[in-house]
Amino acid sequence: MQMPKPSEQILARKSQIVARLQAVLPKGAVIHDPIQTRVYECDALTAYKCPPLCAVLPASTAEVSAVMKVCFEEGVPVVPRGAGTSLAGGALPTADSVILGVARLTDVIDADYDNRFIQVQTGRTNLSVTGAVEEEGFFYAPDPSSQLACAIAGNIAMNSGGAHCLKYGVTTNNLMGVTMVMADGEVVEIGGAHLDAGGLDLLGLICGSEGQLGIVTEATLRILAKPEGARPVLVGFDSNEVAGACVSDIIKAGILPVAIEFMDRPVIRATEDFAKAGYPDCEALLIIEVEGSDAEIDDQLARIIKIAKTHNPVELRESTSAAESAAIWLGRKSAFGAMGQINDYMCLDGTIPVSELPFVLRRIGEMSAEYGLGVGNVFHAGDGNMHPLILFDANKPGDLEKCEALGADILTLCVEVGGCLTGEHGVGVEKRDLMRRQYTDEDLEIQLAVKDVFDPKWILNPAKVFPLSTTETRRG
Ligand SMILES: Cc1cc2nc3c(=O)[nH]c(=O)nc-3n(C[C@H](O)[C@H](O)[C@H](O)COP(=O)(O)OP(=O)(O)OC[C@H]3O[C@@H](n4cnc5c(N)ncnc54)[C@H](O)[C@@H]3O)c2cc1C
Repeated sequence: MQMPKPSEQILARKSQIVARLQAVLPKGAVIHDPIQTRVYECDALTAYKCPPLCAVLPASTAEVSAVMKVCFEEGVPVVPRGAGTSLAGGALPTADSVILGVARLTDVIDADYDNRFIQVQTGRTNLSVTGAVEEEGFFYAPDPSSQLACAIAGNIAMNSGGAHCLKYGVTTNNLMGVTMVMADGEVVEIGGAHLDAGGLDLLGLICGSEGQLGIVTEATLRILAKPEGARPVLVGFDSNEVAGACVSDIIKAGILPVAIEFMDRPVIRATEDFAKAGYPDCEALLIIEVEGSDAEIDDQLARIIKIAKTHNPVELRESTSAAESAAIWLGRKSAFGAMGQINDYMCLDGTIPVSELPFVLRRIGEMSAEYGLGVGNVFHAGDGNMHPLILFDANKPGDLEKCEALGADILTLCVEVGGCLTGEHGVGVEKRDLMRRQYTDEDLEIQLAVKDVFDPKWILNPAKVFPLSTTETRRG
């Protein structure tokens, strides 16, 4: 993976730039010691690392604005950072960039239960948004598996999803407004505590823009009343394809579970060793959860089980208690950690039409054999959001490159069957150079023109999202 050469001029001016940032921020909010800045050298895509010029930790929108004014005047690149859990290298710095971390922006600004919204600073973690409203019987729906750590800032930038987004939608469906600091430090409000805003859908543009258009410091989020109840069923199958066909049939039948999660044998085995959730010995399993009153749950599960039975499941386990529900979810929730314990892996993230699941799962198996690299699958099957985990050995020369090539082929397959390069993890550096497999030069030129408007000096989150060759001439 190639990164642009850092600006010698910026590197040479490090002490002046640090001094200017220190002048606009409280003591201790600028980190420039090379040992301390190593904390920011990568995100959760740990294959790529580069320490930044320095890092800043502002504690208010006004301080973010002051930082951006300095960086805009100096022409210094800025890499916004939430909790650094991006799996696409979205928060990876360049050597000449300032990391702008929002970890100190954690306040709840307002919680309005009559109008069902909460307004927070964006450094707040995803899970603690629900934590702030649950006593009143509410929750925030998007639930990335990283929700204990990841920040609302990163969720907005990546348009993150999660297991329960099949029913409630992803971040963009639950975001009502933002306060954003523009590249030159100007503060703007987009959307707000109301259903829709007039004019162009700028909020739709900001959500998922991966830190390319501005620094989001505050967010108004939709909160929902907690459902009366929820119940999962676990269904095991003797092949990935059959499990995929079952998902497709449930969706085709018009049933809308809150979650349909998929795990294949390598992942089931790893999570059993790690979490001992009591999963069956099978090739693939689905966890399907429905919500509502007891009567609604019974009705939906009966329809789902009827469909599942037409696919000859090897195991069918309906939860009958809170403890059994927790056990069913335990393995799924620890799947990424479990895989990380046994192997280096690269987690892909592509979407496909649900009806293509059987074909794509079969092709991934074939490609895995062709490349000689193992692949585990654990993903949000209900909305066709695939997460193949390619297993490789980071210490074996050539393995990372082989892994990248297999990843590119799998994501290309997703595009070829009518899907998309990313469902929820974003493009970052990981898929930057694959963008041409989805977009024509004209498509890319339009996206670059949008960035030109928001970021005329091209200082925001460099070397991400767009193929490097398309952006080389844009930064002066
Ligand atoms: C174990 C594990 C499980 C995961 N599971 C899921 C999952 O189920 N669903 C899912 O969607 N993702 C998942 N992820 C990926 C990741 O957690 C999400 O992309 C998350 O939204 C990133 O949030 P963050 O705060 O860590 O952002 P970071 O990693 O810090 O940054 C992500 C992007 O946001 C930009 N950004 C950060 N702050 C701002 C800001 N204030 N303004 C503008 N741009 C900003 C960054 O520049 C970067 O491009 C998982 C990651 C891990 C490690």
